Amino acid sequence: MGDSRDLRPATLASHLGRDPQRFLGAVNTPVFRASTILFPTVADLEQSARGEYEGLSYGLHGVPTVTDLQSAVATIEGAHAAFAVPSGLTATTLPLLALLKPGDHLLVTDSVYGPTRRFCDLHLARFGVEVTYYDPTVGAAIEREMRANTRVVFTESPGSLTFEVQDVPAIAEAAHRCGAWVVLDNSWATPFFFPSFARGVDVSVHAATKYIGGHSDVLLGLILTNAATTPAVHRLWTDLGVTASSDDCFLALRGLRTLPTRLARHQVSALKVAQWLAARPEVKEVIYPALPGARGHALWRRDFSGATGLFAVVLQPVAKERVDALLNGFRLFRMGWSWGGFESLAIPIWPEKVRTATRWDAGGPCLRLSIGLEDPDDLIADLAAGLARLAG
Ligand SMILES: *Cc1c(COP(=O)(O)O)cnc(C)c1O
Repeated sequence: MGDSRDLRPATLASHLGRDPQRFLGAVNTPVFRASTILFPTVADLEQSARGEYEGLSYGLHGVPTVTDLQSAVATIEGAHAAFAVPSGLTATTLPLLALLKPGDHLLVTDSVYGPTRRFCDLHLARFGVEVTYYDPTVGAAIEREMRANTRVVFTESPGSLTFEVQDVPAIAEAAHRCGAWVVLDNSWATPFFFPSFARGVDVSVHAATKYIGGHSDVLLGLILTNAATTPAVHRLWTDLGVTASSDDCFLALRGLRTLPTRLARHQVSALKVAQWLAARPEVKEVIYPALPGARGHALWRRDFSGATGLFAVVLQPVAKERVDALLNGFRLFRMGWSWGGFESLAIPIWPEKVRTATRWDAGGPCLRLSIGLEDPDDLIADLAAGLARLAG
């Protein structure tokens, strides 16, 4: 395909990360099952031991299905390199281990994905890293949270459960002035809707389990790095031995082919459902950055090129039994701890239970909706019946 800089997202998704001439003309890079790689001569093997061999050296260090996925997402998001790992959680935690050492200070957004928070509190703390949480809406005022030993600022935008859009460029500017790296959990926006590296991020991570996989049948993480952070992340990725499997990367590459097309539908449907919900008397607030008037909308418009289908809904105060009746009776929406698949999900959430730096009080029970690829009018009918159950 050659230089791809003039091509648009849907075209990139169709053409990056595959080279049929390498595989007997097959359109897709096949699943490549290999641990042992055989060398024709001692000289080749010795070259491989020195890390100077042109071909593959060992299955763990990347087979074509894995490296094709890595190079495709790196090109889409404008990264220097990408590393596939077995889960989104490995993707959020590995860069922190790679960039921090005992005595360093880490700043983490209070809206961070729960398991990332647990890793910081239990494990980074055990290794002598000081962890503090900050208000996700802090913006340039992050400067006041910086200490002499602050090495990393962890961001996630929009945040888990509460969807605060962070002023990532302002945070990056302040962090870099103080000599700290910026890591972003970019799972919500995918590599297509938030160009991390153009916004000042040093490491962008994805739960590819969500939209990139897109079919609720693969667990995978991606770590994208700029030139400065590539060596440390590459070193630890190699030394921990956490390459993703070829089968999972095959599924992620398959997901990538349709990602822009799916996202266009997720976005249109989510906006339609969000607008419908926002007009209902039972709903106090819809927290969806793409919704005009919603919190974070102005920053989202400034920095993102699109929205995906995951958002929160705050109901007017009502008894728990009524909310349970709403959730238990859905015909289409199902309950599960994930999102980004073709099927719609709805779960209750309790953001107030996990915060430490800020207080969360939305003034009513909260739900999180993942709007799938169903017809949005069928989803709205399901929600309308749910709101009737809410009333009792
Ligand atoms: C789900 C999720 C992860 C973790 O992904 P897994 O593949 O489930 O480990 C990381 N970050 C965010 C924001 C997520 O929603």
